[in-house]
Amino acid sequence: MVHDKFPLVGIYGGTFDPIHYGHLRIAEELLDIVNFSQFFFMPAGEPRLRNIPFASKCHRKTMAHLAVHDNAKFSIDEREISRSGATSTVASLREYRQEFGEKTALCFIMGVDAFLKLQMWYCWQELFRLCHFVIVGRPGNVQVMNNEALPSVLRNECMSRWITNASELEHESEGLVFAAKTSLLEISSTQIRSLIASNRSVRYLLPGAVYDYIRINHLYDGEG
Ligand code: ATP
Ligand code: MG
Repeated sequence: MVHDKFPLVGIYGGTFDPIHYGHLRIAEELLDIVNFSQFFFMPAGEPRLRNIPFASKCHRKTMAHLAVHDNAKFSIDEREISRSGATSTVASLREYRQEFGEKTALCFIMGVDAFLKLQMWYCWQELFRLCHFVIVGRPGNVQVMNNEALPSVLRNECMSRWITNASELEHESEGLVFAAKTSLLEISSTQIRSLIASNRSVRYLLPGAVYDYIRINHLYDGEG
């Protein structure tokens, strides 16, 4: 069926404990690759599949806002971090679908490390009926496009969904998987937390405003 192109909405979920230049630079590169009309970072409240975050919801939310305040193209979606109880991406994406309607292409962005564990997520198969996936590489992980590296249930689900051209994302509202060729940036929140815990500098791994906020509030240094 021939129809107009759908506007593309990017949703970059994560614990963001703390948000860093890995997240931000990848998002900026994606804006050059995918024709997003809106782009949201969506910090998780209480993630189901990992330990309780180190920084409070309030601190993680504030750091996310500080990180994007000078970029009009980025917004923070507070729906998960404002909710009590465990985070469910599928619940958030159902809400997005309600809000944006059927004629919008929702794109959920994930690093390949996270995507490899997608089959552990609550109602994960429903996600393919709600959004596209845009997968980005991370150092030390398999190539994004290596379908063989995916766990078999995920490989089967993705089999007919891979696309190689970002413009195809605009032709469907959900259900496609696109591996974006972004830089491999060796930055992680784990690395940042452990540098701070051992009293080493994290300057230039994250925005200056986030760096200042972490220091003022003694986050991750055992005194916060
Ligand atoms: P942690 O070390 O605590 O797991 P993280 O750096 O992986 O933190 P998350 O909040 O867990 O950050 O990640 C949110 C999303 O961002 C995930 O999909 C993850 O794969 C992706 N991501 C994080 N850092 C990078 C990076 N440097 N390059 C590409 N994707 C990244
Ligand atoms: Mg992570």
